[in-house]
Amino acid sequence: ATPAEERDLVIVGGGVAGYVAAIKAGQEGLKVTCIEKRGSLGGTCLNVGCIPSKSLLNNSHLYHQILHDSKHRGIEVGDVKLNLGQMMKAKETSVNGLTKGIEFLFKKNNVEYIKGTAAFADEHTLAVNLVEGGETSVRGKNIFIATGSESTPFPGLTIDEKKVITSTGAIALDKVPKKMIVIGGGIIGLEMGSVWSRLGAEVTVVEFLGQIGGPGMDVEIAKNTQKILAKQGMKFKLNTKVASGDDSGEIVKLHVEAAKGGKEETLEADVVLVAIGRRAYTSGLGLENIGLETDNRGRLVIDSEYRTKIPHIRVIGDCTFGPMLAHKAEEEAVAAVEFLTKGYGHVNYNAIPSVMYTHPEVAWVGQNEAELKEAGVKYKVGTFPFSANSRAKTNADTEGMVKFLADAETDRILGIHIIGPNAGEMIAEGVLALEYGASTEDVGRTSHAHPTLAEAFKEAAMATYGKAIHY
Ligand code: FAD
Ligand code: NAD
Repeated sequence: ATPAEERDLVIVGGGVAGYVAAIKAGQEGLKVTCIEKRGSLGGTCLNVGCIPSKSLLNNSHLYHQILHDSKHRGIEVGDVKLNLGQMMKAKETSVNGLTKGIEFLFKKNNVEYIKGTAAFADEHTLAVNLVEGGETSVRGKNIFIATGSESTPFPGLTIDEKKVITSTGAIALDKVPKKMIVIGGGIIGLEMGSVWSRLGAEVTVVEFLGQIGGPGMDVEIAKNTQKILAKQGMKFKLNTKVASGDDSGEIVKLHVEAAKGGKEETLEADVVLVAIGRRAYTSGLGLENIGLETDNRGRLVIDSEYRTKIPHIRVIGDCTFGPMLAHKAEEEAVAAVEFLTKGYGHVNYNAIPSVMYTHPEVAWVGQNEAELKEAGVKYKVGTFPFSANSRAKTNADTEGMVKFLADAETDRILGIHIIGPNAGEMIAEGVLALEYGASTEDVGRTSHAHPTLAEAFKEAAMATYGKAIHY
């Protein structure tokens, strides 16, 4: 299309929110353009987030398992050596394959892809600085903003992605640090901390709150997780805040103190990972040119149909409200396009799962105990440990549990929390149950194949309305 030609939809950002909306719009027959400044599609998730981190988590787990958990299985290996360069190459291969795959899907679905940085010139026009040089402009009847998020910086520390790093540096270190301090015991801190701990770094996690796992993780599960990760070698300092940092020398020094004041000490590390959360990103988008404002956390404000106060401009993904998760962005993308083409769309925000890809994995959906207590909901609890599950025993991978929370009166499932092998795959069953308004008895009376880890899921459900058989 020429600059003067008006598209049905122009999308700023080719991350999960943006690229999924573009494909969906193409499928619906809209004339759609997606503008991405990074030079490759897939956004944070594919380029520097979900995908590269999971590649490193998988391969560092294999390495660690071969080193420490193979002899008793009857597997004796010779010299086990880490080839970090090759591990990084394997990561890049998975990233490149997937980002190229989206370009292919764009072509297949007639999505116009412009590599460049977009800024609003007016309410229907975006001025684009092209990656390859030069400028163009694009007009859209409708516009989606899907510009994502960025790491929240830590005041007083300068990110150089070598010594003081964000997750972007943590997926690309060229050697294993001796000592790594992670500021923030949320998902990024625990996933990337796990990777480097498995590869040989001495990792200490400093967390401001009294529990690890970030927002949403059930307290009992978080405690369990901490115990298991500590057994693997990670150290934790909870209820501790970093008061100041000094990154002027080769070794980074962090001055930490008890969150409520009191005990102080100085910690030293050769690499510090700042993982205190992410914040919405809209810099350089020219919002001021169209009078759009952000809230106190930098997020674009929208209504229930993803519309800003300029109704033909919608916002989806990390740069607006809700959990910063790829699959949440994806659901919003489809719903927002459906609002355009059909006039209705829907996302059930109570049934968005969370998964932490450590070993064992942690996964949950719905509400946790603290949230139910605060809401004054009467609930019952059913749990089942993997140590009583035959497949987990066979695999000699028995740490963790499944926990159901259900309405005390109606038995309707309110939340499901899992720590255990393959929890991230298992939670899909929980999401489906929640979506269909299932009771724990619905799950407990559903046949699950034997011997599978999923039987622990069924038995935890049984334990909520009655008794588990094997525990
Ligand atoms: P983004 O993916 O950030 O995409 C926004 C895109 O917009 C970017 O590519 C950016 O370059 C582009 N852009 C911004 N401004 C402009 C402009 N003016 N013009 C043109 N282009 C622009 N989530 C999960 O669900 N599972 C995981 O396992 C997971 N792991 C993660 C691991 C890490 C280390 C990190 C950092 C995040 C992880 N996430 C995970 C979160 C996930 O990456 C985000 O929720 C997801 O990427 C959000 O998608 P988005 O499209 O809203 O934003
Ligand atoms: P987070 O919100 O999960 O955790 C940040 C943690 O840092 C919290 O526990 C918080 O209490 C702590 N913290 C904040 N300020 C601190 C301070 N000054 N000192 C010590 N601790 C402090 O954020 P994150 O781990 O940075 O992840 C960012 C986003 O990326 C999240 O929204 C997450 O959902 C997403 N993400 C998801 C996945 C996944 O789904 N597997 C993986 C990585 C990232």
